[in-house]
Amino acid sequence: MRGARDVRALVERGLVSADDAPALEAVVERYALLVSDYYLSLIDPADPACPIRKQALPDAAELVVAPEERSDPIGDAAHAPTPLLVHRYPDRALLFPTFRCPMYCRYCFRKVAINGEPIRLRQALDASLDYLRAHPAIAEVILSGGDPLMLSDDRLGELLGRLRAIPSVRRVRIHTRFPVTLPMRVDASLASLLAAHRPLFLVTHFNHPRELTPASALALRTLVDAGVTVLNQTVLLAGVNDDASVLAALFTGLLEHQVRPYYLHHPDLTVGTGHFRVSLDRGLSIARALRGRLTGLAWPTYVIDIPGGGGKVPVDSDFVRRGDRPGHWILRSPLGGEHLYVDPAHRD
Ligand SMILES: *Cc1c(COP(=O)(O)O)cnc(C)c1O
Repeated sequence: MRGARDVRALVERGLVSADDAPALEAVVERYALLVSDYYLSLIDPADPACPIRKQALPDAAELVVAPEERSDPIGDAAHAPTPLLVHRYPDRALLFPTFRCPMYCRYCFRKVAINGEPIRLRQALDASLDYLRAHPAIAEVILSGGDPLMLSDDRLGELLGRLRAIPSVRRVRIHTRFPVTLPMRVDASLASLLAAHRPLFLVTHFNHPRELTPASALALRTLVDAGVTVLNQTVLLAGVNDDASVLAALFTGLLEHQVRPYYLHHPDLTVGTGHFRVSLDRGLSIARALRGRLTGLAWPTYVIDIPGGGGKVPVDSDFVRRGDRPGHWILRSPLGGEHLYVDPAHRD
């Protein structure tokens, strides 16, 4: 997994011009760069608007911070009983076994947490498992991060075993981008380890049909053949996939691999990600263009995470309604309360 870790490596590969390098080095000082050789190989070097490039390579626009943008856009910190746990909903909690990834996605909503102070993982993990034992209403643990498959099979197996030993934890979900960014990680021994811990749901993160390569198809088949249920979440990203036919190709392409689209996420108000943002109007018009055109199996729920920690709500539902001014929306939280959401200046 050598990959590219600095701007020089991108210049050497002809993906970035030497003239652009100094501006990008300033970006990478704030938000780490890491892209696997595999994912780099998917970039079309002749296309400056390549959707793979946009997700993986730094952009000077990341240093622009709009007033509504936050370092903790969905309010994880307000619901974090330990540095590795987020408990927002009564029945489920997120657990971060690592803050590292095989690739740092440029639009990541945890990009500030991921680039923050290192945490003493072992100690915090023990405290997190104690919390789960003390809160038996938590029936589902969602491993996220960071990418949980950064753990070796041995460490992952140990963690899954410790979770299973808590009687109230009935199922585990793993949120991972490895099948997209470094599919070779997913081999038969990982798949059988995961299958041994069923009920276990693996949620991948494909954003563009060009990510459905033979290597990622093999990773998905390895999981599915072992008996792991695989779902996918996509983030709606300007210039990457904010287009009904791109999303249609992605969602039906996933079904070809026995993967069910689960969520389409409206982009969060994360610092330095304004260049990826799409308005709610645009998202809804894409969703409506796909409604009726795609089998229901292919269509995920389009959700927005209420800024500050109100939780996720379906956009096309009465949780989301227009305010009294253009671009103003009222988001009603399932946890109680309402939130005014103002669409930031957008591209369309
Ligand atoms: C997104 C999220 C979940 C999972 O929500 P589902 O709607 O069940 O997929 C759980 N906890 C937190 C804190 C979340 O942000």
